[in-house]
Amino acid sequence: MHLNTLEDVIRFLCGRDTDDTTLDARKGRAPDWSDLQWVLRKARPSASYPTSPIPCRHCGLTASTATTSSSNINGNAGRPYFRCPTMGKFLVFADARGNDPTNPVCRCGLSSKRMMSGFYNAKTPGKLFYVCRSGMCEYYRECRDARGEHVVVDWELVDHLAWLEII
Ligand SMILES: [Zn+2]
Ligand SMILES: [Zn+2]
Repeated sequence: MHLNTLEDVIRFLCGRDTDDTTLDARKGRAPDWSDLQWVLRKARPSASYPTSPIPCRHCGLTASTATTSSSNINGNAGRPYFRCPTMGKFLVFADARGNDPTNPVCRCGLSSKRMMSGFYNAKTPGKLFYVCRSGMCEYYRECRDARGEHVVVDWELVDHLAWLEII
């Protein structure tokens, strides 16, 4: 499944109940991106994320805080994150992006964080997957549609999806 349009994104996020309930409030015209933002804020507020340094799941020491470069070309520019203080290994982004409470549950028993493979050097660019949103476990699961195919985001939509905190 390729997410190329707003309609694709709505179908992906809301499933079959979209037509009658989800975008009800703005009936009478085609939904736009701000409608979807309104719906998500109201119906599906983001799950929490770590706001202070977590213990590193590799070495147990308190994680270091860092921020991705503003020139990051994978839709991750300027994101705060935690990393291992000894090896520098990435642990988790310290933000609400992708923290859809309906995501599958990680090994900690929490709803996971939706992320996207980069467009540079990735085997399947724009592929969605899930990780632990607290950064405490190694959970990883690919996002697949009902037919078992990867859910892949079109490059043109990355900024919109990031703004809506969908990824
Ligand atoms: Zn560590
Ligand atoms: Zn976890």
